[in-house]
Amino acid sequence: MQTLPTYDDVVAAAERIKGYAHRTPVLRSRTIDAQLGASLYFKCENLQRIGAFKFRGAFNAIAALDSAHRRAGVIAFSSGNHAQGVALAASLLKVKATIVMPLDAPAAKLAATRSYGAQIVQYDRYTEDRAAITKALAQEHGYTLIPPYDHPDVIAGQGTATMELMQETGPLDLLFVCLGGGGLLSGSALAARALAPQCRIYGVEPEAGNDGQLSLRAGHIVHIDMPKTIADGAQTQFLGNYTFPIIAREVADILTVTDQQLVQAMRFYAERMKILVEPTGCLSLAGASSVKDLLQGKRVGIIISGGNVDLANFCALLGADTQ
Ligand SMILES: *Cc1c(COP(=O)(O)O)cnc(C)c1O
Repeated sequence: MQTLPTYDDVVAAAERIKGYAHRTPVLRSRTIDAQLGASLYFKCENLQRIGAFKFRGAFNAIAALDSAHRRAGVIAFSSGNHAQGVALAASLLKVKATIVMPLDAPAAKLAATRSYGAQIVQYDRYTEDRAAITKALAQEHGYTLIPPYDHPDVIAGQGTATMELMQETGPLDLLFVCLGGGGLLSGSALAARALAPQCRIYGVEPEAGNDGQLSLRAGHIVHIDMPKTIADGAQTQFLGNYTFPIIAREVADILTVTDQQLVQAMRFYAERMKILVEPTGCLSLAGASSVKDLLQGKRVGIIISGGNVDLANFCALLGADTQ
């Protein structure tokens, strides 16, 4: 293991991604402020390149490679936002990218990943082991693996969203972050602790996939079975060896929310704020809304992590929620 990343690494990441990643907007809503009795600041990574914050970490990790590793290329396994983040970052840096994706990945995701110029290797989820396939390809071709969350440069890159947020808003009292494997939460925590030492930082994960909450309480990384939830970006089964110690040190608590709470937040974003947020991206607001008492009179940061939900799915989810 390398040493844990620090706020200095977040600052270095911000330099690297400058001019490549969008500085996403920070939105407000009087409606939600009135409902919750607080001032909420929404950092809109649903409007980031590829539609999610993952571009930040992927770009930072690839840009940090030396020229020999860049020449050899990078590899990642993902069927979600990390695949597109690595594909786009690699193409901007003129690095060859190979993405290992399941045979039954949605056609739109395959097409999007391919459109950034990545080579796609497909495998059968039911009979093949993606980690083994990825490792074999990496060894054969000298590719560098870019993990979705458990890597110091990925964590530092993800931290730049909160750094931008607090540069704009000043120190916030509370920060709510969507939680899967913890790259976004640990990076956000590094930035928040440096820019707002008193800030209370909360991770929010799906109720069905509460491995982060269990891990925080147990004091070690707890593994769970693949959770069933509409938050497909948070179906991770365990936190990482880099993300967990930072989370354990900096995070006040980890909250869980139900799929129904996610749909309510998704509806709010669409109807009131006119923005499209994917179910996983709704975790932070759903979590904040569930602890209204803690928010009274406070300045609260909400990281919206992504907006990649296909419209048929979006409509089906909202249609199923009859309020
Ligand atoms: C990956 C992802 C997450 C979870 O991020 P981690 O760094 O794994 O905790 C949350 N939301 C969206 C939209 C994602 O793509």
